[in-house]
Amino acid sequence: NGGVSDAKNLRVKLVLLGDSGVGKSCIVLRFVRGQFDPTSKVTVGASFLSQTIALQDSTTVKFEIWDTAGQERYAALAPLYYRGAAVAVVVYDITSPESFAKAQYWVKELQKHGSPDIVMALVGNKADLNEKREVPVQDGIDYAEKNGMFFIETSAKTADNINQLFEEIAKRLPRPAS
Ligand code: GDP
Ligand code: MG
Repeated sequence: NGGVSDAKNLRVKLVLLGDSGVGKSCIVLRFVRGQFDPTSKVTVGASFLSQTIALQDSTTVKFEIWDTAGQERYAALAPLYYRGAAVAVVVYDITSPESFAKAQYWVKELQKHGSPDIVMALVGNKADLNEKREVPVQDGIDYAEKNGMFFIETSAKTADNINQLFEEIAKRLPRPAS
């Protein structure tokens, strides 16, 4: 697969959006490297990480994952970042209602300015902090359903549902004609 998509091997740009501190970089590092480091300041930065997964129907999906190095603070830069993305993963922290509100802002932005056929996932991260939960699971489920998004709660810390997140996205990708 020399860098192009065909019917059996997809290659897709995936961006993560959401407030600073919700765990976007940790989700990426958990998925790509199987690691969680609570102490290091994670900066994936300008370049991207990639990870390929195989599905049961013997197709593969190569995710080219663009993480921000804090540009999420600058809303004006966001369109440059999500341009051409086939997948947007919008992340909030289940202990932070403010981050849930910000996630809804990003969903609206993507609906206005993203690719029309973009696959969107809504992710409630830090599910391991259930005793500090301030966003009910049902609120995430309801918002995602209204907006045609896939919803899942994850923990980059425990790895709970991280692989499932990317597998479910892969299953929802439009397939080129073979
Ligand atoms: P980003 O700004 O969205 O990229 O957030 P980071 O990935 O840098 O994570 C911000 C902080 O949240 C760090 O201190 C992480 O250790 C912590 N964190 C990230 N994911 C989780 C998680 O699933 N559970 C818990 N308890 N902490 C997390
Ligand atoms: Mg980050």
